[in-house]
Amino acid sequence: MKCLLKKDREMEQRLQHEAKALLEQGKVDYIIGFEPGSLKFTTTPLITKDKDDTSRLVINPFIVNNLSVFLTEIKGRVGIVAKGCDSRSIISLIQDNKVIREDIVILGIPCPGLIDLKKIERLVGKDRDELDDITRDGDKVVIRVSGEKKGFPTREVLFDDCLSCEFPSPQEYDILLGETSSLVCDKELSQNKIKELEDMPPEQRWEFWKQQFSHCIRCYACRQVCPACFCQRCFVEESEPQWVSPLPQWQDNLMFQVIRIIHVAGRCTDCGECERACPAGIPLRSLTKKMDDLVDELFHYKAGIDKNAPPLMTAYELQEAEDFIR
Ligand code: SF4
Ligand code: SF4
Ligand code: SF4
Repeated sequence: MKCLLKKDREMEQRLQHEAKALLEQGKVDYIIGFEPGSLKFTTTPLITKDKDDTSRLVINPFIVNNLSVFLTEIKGRVGIVAKGCDSRSIISLIQDNKVIREDIVILGIPCPGLIDLKKIERLVGKDRDELDDITRDGDKVVIRVSGEKKGFPTREVLFDDCLSCEFPSPQEYDILLGETSSLVCDKELSQNKIKELEDMPPEQRWEFWKQQFSHCIRCYACRQVCPACFCQRCFVEESEPQWVSPLPQWQDNLMFQVIRIIHVAGRCTDCGECERACPAGIPLRSLTKKMDDLVDELFHYKAGIDKNAPPLMTAYELQEAEDFIR
């Protein structure tokens, strides 16, 4: 698989070098990064104590996982690779006292955005397995398929969350692996799905979500990949009282997701992982991003920016409009 910018390659080499040095010098017990996946154009998380494994670390446009999800599970000092959105999730975990800043070394990537293979498949009319290679060069992506080259503007193939990313460079880091992000944003394009839903009459929108959540199989992948979903016991597993039926009926599926999204309000960094992980293809970002925008509009708060700030849902002011809060 070939899809590396010169910049990616330089960052990758520096990452391998820094990660190895951190383990050798005993500054961390584990490194968490990405290694090539078993399928074309994929990567998979690499968690290792072995300095020789650091030569497998990669940086490319397919490093989708938000690795901060592992921080609440691994005991010891950890060196972690973080894109802009991941670094904000780490800050959010520090704010919630789930992670101790001194226990982690953040290897930050100034992120140029990630490539959405579904968009590429739609554009070239081929399955990802049929593609020879994908080359990204600034604001252009060239796809080689059956010996032919096809070029597209980068904005047409990035994930929607990347297209509206305000903080592609890590907000907190110990080692920065590159200088600046070359991300090309298009906020209007990234909001298309949400705008379409907002423009629907309420009955049609309700029908849309009813249809979507009738496909939910309650696998909880959306919860498992989310660093903001860190409760030891999730409300869906409570039996006394039972808030939501464990049976995957659309009403309970919808209720599960609505409550999950309220729980991550002020913590969600629009990393896009829940939507990517959903095997039913439910457009979860239309809900999470809408919630992020409401949090910003109502509370002037963006998740994961200030590690010393109290978490949004624990802060109140004496001038709050609602009595019950004071
Ligand atoms: S949301 Fe921003 S930081 Fe996260 S992967 Fe996309 S461009 Fe990179
Ligand atoms: S990942 Fe998708 S199918 Fe699985 S529980 Fe979440 S919404 Fe349902
Ligand atoms: S709710 Fe989804 S987009 Fe938000 S932090 Fe969790 S996985 Fe990322």
